[in-house]
Amino acid sequence: MTHVFPRHSRARMPIAVRGEGAYIFDADGKQYLDGSGGAAVSCLGHSDPDVIAAIKQQADRIPFAHTGFFSSEPAERLADRLIAHAPGTLDRVYLVSGGSEAVEAALKLARQYFLERGEPQRTRFIARRQSYHGNTLGALATGGNEWRRAPFAPMLIETSHISPCYEYRGRAADETQEAYGLRVADELETELQRIGPDNVIAFVAEPVVGATAGAVPAVPGYFKRVREICDRHGILLILDEVMCGMGRTGTLFACEQDGITPDIVTVAKGLGAGYQPIGAMLCTAEIYDAIAQGSGFFQHGHTYIGHPIACAAADAVVQKLTEGGLTERSARMGAVLDEALRDAFGQHPNVGDIRGRGMFRGLELVADRETKTPFAPEQAVHKAVKAAAFEAGLICYPMGGTIDGQTGDHVLLAPPFILTEAQIGELVDKLDTAFRAAL
Ligand code: PLP
Repeated sequence: MTHVFPRHSRARMPIAVRGEGAYIFDADGKQYLDGSGGAAVSCLGHSDPDVIAAIKQQADRIPFAHTGFFSSEPAERLADRLIAHAPGTLDRVYLVSGGSEAVEAALKLARQYFLERGEPQRTRFIARRQSYHGNTLGALATGGNEWRRAPFAPMLIETSHISPCYEYRGRAADETQEAYGLRVADELETELQRIGPDNVIAFVAEPVVGATAGAVPAVPGYFKRVREICDRHGILLILDEVMCGMGRTGTLFACEQDGITPDIVTVAKGLGAGYQPIGAMLCTAEIYDAIAQGSGFFQHGHTYIGHPIACAAADAVVQKLTEGGLTERSARMGAVLDEALRDAFGQHPNVGDIRGRGMFRGLELVADRETKTPFAPEQAVHKAVKAAAFEAGLICYPMGGTIDGQTGDHVLLAPPFILTEAQIGELVDKLDTAFRAAL
C-alpha cells in the first residue's frame, strides 16, 4: 500500500535507491542504463560530486531566503554565468522551479512588456501543433499536444497553432530543404495577417522539438525566416529550450545552431540536471527595461523562485557544461551515438527516421518504412518499446502522438553527456533487444 499519488495509477514503479554515473539502481538491485536522462534531465548522470558538494555547501550556509527580501550569492552567480554564455542581447535571468513555470513566466512577461509599452490589445500567442510547453494552463494552451490539452480545453487561452517544421513528414519529394523551411515559416506570416499582427504578443517554439516528436530540429533557414517575420511585425520570439537547452544539442543554447537569438528563452531540465528542481527564463535588456522603467514590478512570482540551493546546484552544473567541457562532449558523443544508431537501425524496417543533435536523438517508428505508414494507435507501440527496454535495463523515452490526424511513435534518447563509447554500445544493444521484443 502506498500513499504516493503516482503518474500512472495502475503501474507499479520500482523504487529507485541509488544512482551511479549513467546508471540507476532499484530496491531489488536491478541496474538501468539511463538512456534518456529520465525526460532529458540528467545530463551529468546521477552522482556528480561537484554538484552534490555545491548543494551541501549552500545548505550549510543558508538554504532559503525569500526573494521578496533578499537575493542570494548562488542566484547572482548563476545569472551572471548564464548571461555570460547566452547568445545575443539576453541580459536578465528570472529563476523559477521548473519548465512549465519558466514558460508561464515567459508568457506573462511578454504580455506585460506590451502593457508597459501601451499596447494592451496584444493578447494572442502563436505556437506550433507539434510542441509541448508544459502542463500549467498557460503553457498547456501554447503547446500542441492534443491528448494533454483536450480535458482542459475550455480553460485554455485562445492560441493559434501553425505547422511544425517536421521535415520527415512535411517536406514534399520535389521540395528542397530550404523551400520547405520557408514555406512552413511563412505560415506564421499568414496567421499574423489572419488575426492581425497588432493583436499578437509572441511566437513560441522549441528549437528542437522534444516530447511530442522525438528530437526534431528545424531545417536550416527556418528560424531565420521566423525571426525576420517576428521583427517585421514587432512581435516577440519566445524559444522554449526547457528540453533542448543546456548543452543537450551540443551547444549551451540550441538556438545557437540556428543562428538566431530570441527575445525570451526558457530553460529547465538540464539546468539542474536532476539534482535540484530549477528552471529559468532569460530575456533581453529591452524587455527588462520596459518593466524596470515602467511599473517597476513584474506581476508574477512564486515562493520558491531563485531558491539558493537550487541555484547553487545549477551554477555548478552550468560551470561543468561551459568551463568543464561537457557541452562539447555532448556534441562529440552525440555524433558517436548518431553513428551507432544509424549502424544498428539505419535499415530497420520499422525505423523511418533517425534525427537530432548532440545527445538528443529521436527515432520515428513506422509500420512501413517505404511508405512511412505509422503503426495503428491501438497497437501502442511506443508503450511496448518502453516496457521492453525497461525490462532489458534501459530507460528510454518513447512517446506517441497525433499531429494533423497522423499518429506517430517515437523513441527519444537523451543520455547523460558523460556516457562512454562502451555505454553507447550498451544503449544500442538494449534498444535492439527492446525492438526485437516489441516490434
Ligand atoms: N517545455 C518543454 C519543451 C518541455 O519539454 C517540458 C517538459 O517536458 C516543459 C516545457 C515543462 O517542463 P516541466 O515538466 O519541468 O514543467
